[in-house]
Amino acid sequence: MNDLPEFRALGIADELIPALLAKNFQTPSAIQSLAIPLLLSGEKDLIGQALTGTGKTAAFGLPVIQTIEPGKVPKALILAPTRELSIQIADELISLAGSKPLKTAPFFGGQLITVQLDILKKGVDIVVGTPGRIMDLHRRGKLQLDQLQFAILDEADEMLDMGFIDDIREILSLTNPDKRMLMFSATMPQEIMDIAAEFMRPDYEVARTGGQSATNVALTEQYFHEVKREHKLDALCRLIDANTDLYAMVFCRTRADVDEVTEKLHARNYRAEALHGEISQTQRLRVINAFKKHKFPLLIATDVAARGIDVNDLTHVINYSLPQNSEIYIHRIGRTGRAGRHGVAVSFVTPGEKRKLKFIEKDIGNEIPMKKLPTPADIIEAKKQLFAENIALLLETGAAKDYLNFAEELCTLGSHPAEAVAAVLKLHFNNELLLDNYRDFGSTPKERPDESHMKKLLLFAGRADGITVPELLRVIAERTGIKSTQLGKIICRADKTFINADPIDAEKILTVFKKDKEWRFKYDEPRENRQKKSDQSERPQKKKKIKTHKPLREEFFKWIAEEE
Ligand code: ADP
Ligand code: MG
Repeated sequence: MNDLPEFRALGIADELIPALLAKNFQTPSAIQSLAIPLLLSGEKDLIGQALTGTGKTAAFGLPVIQTIEPGKVPKALILAPTRELSIQIADELISLAGSKPLKTAPFFGGQLITVQLDILKKGVDIVVGTPGRIMDLHRRGKLQLDQLQFAILDEADEMLDMGFIDDIREILSLTNPDKRMLMFSATMPQEIMDIAAEFMRPDYEVARTGGQSATNVALTEQYFHEVKREHKLDALCRLIDANTDLYAMVFCRTRADVDEVTEKLHARNYRAEALHGEISQTQRLRVINAFKKHKFPLLIATDVAARGIDVNDLTHVINYSLPQNSEIYIHRIGRTGRAGRHGVAVSFVTPGEKRKLKFIEKDIGNEIPMKKLPTPADIIEAKKQLFAENIALLLETGAAKDYLNFAEELCTLGSHPAEAVAAVLKLHFNNELLLDNYRDFGSTPKERPDESHMKKLLLFAGRADGITVPELLRVIAERTGIKSTQLGKIICRADKTFINADPIDAEKILTVFKKDKEWRFKYDEPRENRQKKSDQSERPQKKKKIKTHKPLREEFFKWIAEEE
């Protein structure tokens, strides 16, 4: 047997190899490479720090499983912050143990204590549980904690955040002093070091895998969109629409934000579920399980509620709000780009949050580039692409041939078969694939092209004439084919409007609208030139403007009326 040489090199015994093969583990992760030899060969306590999803459970689980022997009293205790995590860790350990006859069970609040007492009575080798329930079971005298070989705090930082410190202290004080104590955590705040100083033997070791060297970060493409607060929801919808295979976690700052985003997505017919601390345990478990099974594509969550949830194949992590610090940022984005798959981490950054982003960039030692939000055209393209792929698949499998007769009949309705197909598309999509169907939600300045080389066009009509920016964009697009995203800033004053455009686009707009009596554009002179000219002939020019302006009004209104 020469399977899994890299795991063997760390000291993993033959006995455990079949289970690893069954789980399709091929090479150890960074934290496993560091922690497993330390735990198998030494006697020291250990702190392990690595991102979520880097295999910390197996990093301590494999040595524990290999070291302990089945018996009557618990040999390993693993404390975890939540019920889901306890279940998840126990499941992982059971699968890692393979055929080794060790008993592992999770214990948590919310399950009938009588059921758990029964399980304990039959003998458990590895006890996994939340601090509260473990305390309870011990107080009832049903959980023996003085013959441990290992006491392990998993997601230690999270347990501290959740205020479990007193329970943890009490539990640790009940354990035998000659056990090995391990602590695993994604972040390493001072409180963790304090716990280590209090409960670990002073020669404890630290196994740390840096944020950047972790493989999942390397596989994660990071960028941000500059989005005003009031446009975040629209921006999120754009991302959802443009990524037809989206499977994402969306992080918000507060419970209220999570609820609000989820409700608004529902109102727009998107499938999403909320996860935060005020949601009942049963509901939480139901949501997490359904999400893991891809029953819905979007999980909207707070950091605390999402902590430790093991989802392997997210396409995107979306920071609806930037996190408070870089550790949380790394922790969040560590959930995508796993298992060799490319992942995307998108952050929404309001103009006022640029500094915070710079801070995070500096801290993680990585530049986070800006990207344009998908445009309506991108979204339509993605939807067409998906539809075409599905059609191609149907053609390939011949699954649509039951409809062939009907299709032939329909094709005789128009003068060309394409007309019939177009009608079918209209019935199926209505206006969904038409650009007019999408409204612009006020692109932020940074989404527009670089404006430094642009020309400024002046239109002798403004808000008082009934002009609005969306109307103007629509007219320009209609008559010149120039899309709103190609244009620069548009300033609509009471009596005139300025439009920034690329010289070539500006020329095109000018030519088209010159022919048009209702609209008249001209270049706005740069300030310096204007100064010079006004020296000679300021008055006549002003007069001329006013003259042109007046008749324009009436015609403008006529044009609006025609449109409606
Ligand atoms: P963490 O506790 O660091 O967040 P987990 O222990 O929950 O990570 O592991 C995340 C996922 O990665 C689990 O599904 C686990 O089975 C898988 N995994 C762990 N180690 C490996 C490995 N060496 N190769 C492949 N998958 C692994
Ligand atoms: Mg874990």
